[in-house]
Amino acid sequence: MTSTYITTTIPYVNARPHLGHALELVQADVLARHRRAAGEQVRFQAGTDDNSLKNVLAAQAAGVDVQEFVDANAAAFTGLARPLSLSVDDLIRTSSDPRHRPGVERLWRACAARGDLYRRHYEGLYCVGCEQFYTDAELVGGRCPEHGTLPEPVSEVNWFFRLSRYADELRELIADGIIRVEPTERRNEVLALIDGGLTDFSVSRSTARARGWGIPVPGDPSQVIYVWWDALSNYLAALDYASGGANLDRWWDGAARRVHLLGKGVLRFHAVYWPAMLLSAGEAVPTDIVVHGYLTENGRKISKSSGAPGLVSTVDPYDLVDACGTDAVRWWLLREVPRGADADFTVERLIARANDELANGFGNLVNRVVSMIHRYRGGRVPAAPDGAPDHAAVDSAPLAAALGNAPGLIAAALDDFDFRRATEAVWRIADEANRYVNRTRPWDLAKAGDDAELAAVLAALLAACQAIGTHLAPFLPDAAARIARQCAPDATGCLPRPAPLLPRVV
Ligand SMILES: [Zn+2]
Repeated sequence: MTSTYITTTIPYVNARPHLGHALELVQADVLARHRRAAGEQVRFQAGTDDNSLKNVLAAQAAGVDVQEFVDANAAAFTGLARPLSLSVDDLIRTSSDPRHRPGVERLWRACAARGDLYRRHYEGLYCVGCEQFYTDAELVGGRCPEHGTLPEPVSEVNWFFRLSRYADELRELIADGIIRVEPTERRNEVLALIDGGLTDFSVSRSTARARGWGIPVPGDPSQVIYVWWDALSNYLAALDYASGGANLDRWWDGAARRVHLLGKGVLRFHAVYWPAMLLSAGEAVPTDIVVHGYLTENGRKISKSSGAPGLVSTVDPYDLVDACGTDAVRWWLLREVPRGADADFTVERLIARANDELANGFGNLVNRVVSMIHRYRGGRVPAAPDGAPDHAAVDSAPLAAALGNAPGLIAAALDDFDFRRATEAVWRIADEANRYVNRTRPWDLAKAGDDAELAAVLAALLAACQAIGTHLAPFLPDAAARIARQCAPDATGCLPRPAPLLPRVV
């Protein structure tokens, strides 16, 4: 059976999560649920990056013990699974998970055995916010392009990874689509980066500069392993890479797809450094690198690292779910964020979208249909429209088309990682079903005593509602389950009394 491994990045836990983290988790969850429903074996992997110097600095600034600080924030990240209804299979925490450190060390040793790790003196400008060195050309007015902060000069002996050795191989894998980078503009960005020349990069720092936090370099306790090496290794470490065995075979080497979701700011780490490390270690490379943009709020990037004024997050996913509900939050993230691009969030837009499409659209449709079946047929599910009168069949053609097209459109859109297009295909069913009600006017058919026609219309509408329950499941698992229950007849062939499924958000 086909197996697919889907990962999100593991965020730093220097603060609580914001809505941007929810976006990546929800996208990964949709892909996982969709593929499971298609009968594939799926492992949805997430976690937290505890070994970052940023965590140490944030804890010290807050005057809190580092481990305690990291524990509290990590719990806020892993706890998102409940309010966001995530079907995550496994969470790895890099500071406490017993699988992680030996996995990082094994990858280090594998690359060392290949002759790809060496020591040399290095001087450069380092942004702690990004945990990376910048060249003068990459800085904007001498400042970090992500954080707007001044990088700190660093001069020390470090371990380096021989990235330059893999430039040609990497270019070919990406150009040929063996490693698929989406969207295309990101793929071109990676190819341009490679064409600009790949230089070896520093993969350790002095233990003193790391404040003693992190994983020591095997055989060199004066150095700790670079946070990005440490963090990227989680994708293998979570599969028991250190000991090898069944999980590694099934979800990495043997998987049909190894899919990484990530934000545009960490593209080079995932599309250049990580595959090169894997090539060096003799492991399979990712099949899909799926890049999303940033969420902004009133035009400003939503961020938890407040390196510059105005970058403090006000969008807490817990608060948002408390106020608006899981379905409304997931729907906004899936329905309004363009593929691979930035999107501006406002709570007003989230509420408007939820009220228009969830409450007035899906919720109202199902409620209307079930109510009519109770009013006109005592709750009894009408027979399938076999030999339905002609004009009902004509009227139902656009609805039938929306229903028939939905599975293919959803699958194609999700293969493209286009969540807006996928949700549009489900929305189209509700939209056409509502038009169908208005065209066929079941209340007039009831008044005229046209029972056969009425039964055919109600049967078509109920089938549409049931299909919505099915197709909505990867996107809105909670709402879909309520719709499916509302549209499922009991042992006597009756539908449950209509209940509000998707109340308005106020
Ligand atoms: Zn930075």
